[in-house]
Amino acid sequence: MNPLQNALAQLAKAAKLAKLAPSVETAVGGPMRTIEVKIPLLGDDGQIRYYFGYRVQHNDARGPFKGGLRFHPAVDLDEVKALAFWMTIKTAVIGIPMGGAKGGIVVDPKKLSIPELERLSRGYVRAMRDFIGPDKDIPAPDVNTTPQIMAWMTDEYCQLTGGNNLGVITGKPLEYGGSLGRTAATGQGGYYILEQVVKKLKLPKSKVTIAVQGFGNVGYYFAKLAHEAGYKIVGLADSQGAIYDERGLNPEKVLVWKEQSGTLSTYQGGKHLSSQELLEQKCTVLVPAAMENVIDSENAKKIKASVILELANGPIAFAADKILNDRGILVVPDVLANSGGVTVSYFEWVQNLTNDYWTEAAVLAKLKPMMVESWEQIWRLSVKLKTDLRTAAFVLALERIVGAMKVRGMI
Ligand code: NAD
Repeated sequence: MNPLQNALAQLAKAAKLAKLAPSVETAVGGPMRTIEVKIPLLGDDGQIRYYFGYRVQHNDARGPFKGGLRFHPAVDLDEVKALAFWMTIKTAVIGIPMGGAKGGIVVDPKKLSIPELERLSRGYVRAMRDFIGPDKDIPAPDVNTTPQIMAWMTDEYCQLTGGNNLGVITGKPLEYGGSLGRTAATGQGGYYILEQVVKKLKLPKSKVTIAVQGFGNVGYYFAKLAHEAGYKIVGLADSQGAIYDERGLNPEKVLVWKEQSGTLSTYQGGKHLSSQELLEQKCTVLVPAAMENVIDSENAKKIKASVILELANGPIAFAADKILNDRGILVVPDVLANSGGVTVSYFEWVQNLTNDYWTEAAVLAKLKPMMVESWEQIWRLSVKLKTDLRTAAFVLALERIVGAMKVRGMI
């Protein structure tokens, strides 16, 4: 199943439980607009090359389209459609007044020089200028896109439109309209959910071990916060490999190693494994924080964790979800677990629109209760409906999205 089939199968399961009419399911399932562009890039060698870029605007019934931008060679339209759909569900689950979108460029950014990366980022905004804007569609970082890239894109948009429209993009650097707390927000929100899971399941904190696949923005900050709070991080992985050490790893030390050597997989100490092998190691909480579909019906049978906290988008294939549920493994879905990122992006947008900038303590003081309240709502609904947390989250989100579409006359 590709990510889109996966997302639509999740929708169908929740729509059945929510008793949505087929026409309503169709109205919510498909994107409102799909934009495909060809971006010319003047390379450092003087040659022009073309790159394909996408923006899928899934649903804006509850507020402007919102979602990240991914630079990756495997980006394709179905993947972007799935990610955009999950954003619509996520913004509704966490209860912010925004819709869902996603974008990307088919490129390996590691093969570009910094000036080429800047020209490509600006080229994307030139191609999309009529479709994005602070009250239309607000992009943000995702895989391989950074605050610096967000700054180039915002600057390009402001130059094209002749105004200081900082609210067009979130995840910007602090020097240029960014919000305190945004860089760590997805990992931070995931950490708040981890605390709730540990409390709800009455797990003895000192015995909880955690393995994290993905050591970028999301995986690193989550691992760092969990480590600082006293949880034992037994495994870490990036795209080149994994390390596993039952005695525990210090994510900050591993980061220093990764920055010096280019990969964490050569870190001195522990067992060296492939990133996929890490998923099957002994741990209490497994945290996929890299790419989609890393857990399928084959390796789902071999997972030893008792909880999976999805910080990546769509890491579990639909068929694998059932196997994990049947095995009694608690899956905390992406649309809740990683929603801290879009929530602080929303805070950044509010700060840009009002020109009133908040302290980090104020950001965290707003984020935590929102994450905890959503967790509680979804937990209660899953108990009431006798279903898994993902389906409960979808039912809750669908109620809000369909409600907005109805009052607006879209359904
Ligand atoms: P990133 O580019 O900062 O980091 C990605 C990390 O994943 C890198 O360490 C990379 O080496 C690793 N990786 C890639 N393929 C891998 C593989 N097969 N096995 C192990 N590691 C692999 O990206 P990010 O922003 O941390 O995003 C990670 C995931 O979190 C994505 O699914 C993204 O959609 C999701 N997400 C991100 C945010 C955000 O705010 N950045 C918010 C919500 C969800």
